[in-house]
Amino acid sequence: MQPDIDKIVRQSREAFSQYRSRSGAAKATFLEAIASEIEALGDLLIRKAMEETNLPEPRLVGERARTCNQLRQFAAMAKEGSWVEARIDTALPDRQPLPKPDLRKMMVPLGPVVVFGASNFPFAYSTAGVDTASALAAGCTVILKAHPAHPATSDLVAGAIAKAITKCGEHPHVFQHVHAPSFEAGKLLVQHPLTKAVGFTGSFSGGKALYDYATARPEPIPVFAEMGSINPVFILPGALKTRGEKVAEMYAGSITLSAGQFCTNPGILLSIQGPYLDSFTQQLGEKIRAIAPATMLHPGIAGNFSKNRERALREKGVTMIAESSTPAKVNQGTPTVASVKAADFLKNPTLAEEVFGPYSLLVVSESREELFKAIEAIPGQLTATIIGEEDELKEYAEFIQHVSDRVGRVIINGVPTGVEVCPSMHHGGPFPATTDSRFTSVGIDAARRWVRPLSFQNFPHDLLPAELQNQNPLGIWRLFNNSWTK
Ligand code: NAP
Repeated sequence: MQPDIDKIVRQSREAFSQYRSRSGAAKATFLEAIASEIEALGDLLIRKAMEETNLPEPRLVGERARTCNQLRQFAAMAKEGSWVEARIDTALPDRQPLPKPDLRKMMVPLGPVVVFGASNFPFAYSTAGVDTASALAAGCTVILKAHPAHPATSDLVAGAIAKAITKCGEHPHVFQHVHAPSFEAGKLLVQHPLTKAVGFTGSFSGGKALYDYATARPEPIPVFAEMGSINPVFILPGALKTRGEKVAEMYAGSITLSAGQFCTNPGILLSIQGPYLDSFTQQLGEKIRAIAPATMLHPGIAGNFSKNRERALREKGVTMIAESSTPAKVNQGTPTVASVKAADFLKNPTLAEEVFGPYSLLVVSESREELFKAIEAIPGQLTATIIGEEDELKEYAEFIQHVSDRVGRVIINGVPTGVEVCPSMHHGGPFPATTDSRFTSVGIDAARRWVRPLSFQNFPHDLLPAELQNQNPLGIWRLFNNSWTK
């Protein structure tokens, strides 16, 4: 049955009229209560998620901890309060030739936000994941479209949020949970005139469709969609010479981690031909052969992986380096690495498309110049990684700058998988990695997606929000007549 979208969004707008002015301390208590209620679900939540996603227990236990940690980081941000970016410029009535008015500015919440839960992170990017947590911290209400691949897990988490709402006395429609049998409900949620922003993690086709609905509205709204990424890894010759085998081991692990179902999965490795690259390729192949296939999130994702892997392997010039020597069972993804010459890669843009799962393509350049050219053939990405010795990194400084222009995070001598949740993490990147490279979906800055600046000119002091009042009752950092002060 189709949910009544108009009713749901109206309820969210009504709740927003109250929730928007909740104090930072009240929002913090609410977010902390959600984290505690999720923890109180105990093993039941983990078991349900294991059943629905095929993800292993340790991964889910870790992801639950990350989710609760995120909620608490947003709680701390809301409570401390300086995130609203308060600026105060007091009046100069005697200024010549014109008096200067009293002007104050801070970030205010946008309104109801629609969040599409992701299939590959049933906790951290789903029901009470970073989009929901950041929107609630910013003072927005949330309508969560549950991902159909883990409906019961989503119900359990939504139940935990409902308990937190009751305990904290928040409006019952501050958060609403929607199951919908078709794309139609998602489309209507995005198109509803009272919806003010959208958060999404998933496929390029899904994110782009929602973005197109949002921008075609009479009143266009922002869509923060995180879509595909192939996260290029550039392996420089010096590193291949000194530690090729270690790099091969590290990358075989990163390519196959969680059956390759991470948005930061390294889908493409690039290097310059030579004997050390030949031994690296052989070592990478050996390690991939030894890794057994793992069951993927759901039959749809497993089917897509298998189809896209076959398609990629059929492209002109692509040859298989190795695949797992263990045959895949139903819904499992076979770890695979393939290779192509840069000249063929440069002629074929489909080779830069994501194959979501445990697959990576090694692009072999003839020269440093060709490696430079390959960067141009790769569209916007979440991350890029450079593996190199200290001296050669200096030598490649211009190259690294060139790479930086196309991504949201540059990693030196590491792997892109394993995203630290902290304020200096940027998880976003130029299109098509996301629809807006200026914003992150990891870390407390994720809340900035759900707010807009509002200036208050010549306001009676009593009508100003506490953040902008002269005495600074909240004790937050503010830019006061061009000086940072509390
Ligand atoms: P998805 O197909 O993009 O779906 C995600 C959510 O968006 C679902 O709730 C889906 O609705 C909704 N949706 C998708 N297209 C829509 C449209 N045109 N109109 C309205 N709503 C729409 O993602 P998925 O199911 O998680 O996985 C499918 C593929 O996405 C994977 O095989 C993989 O290639 C890619 N993926 C990439 C990442 C990444 O991080 N890069 C993460 C996950 C998945 P329904 O509930 O109705 O299906």
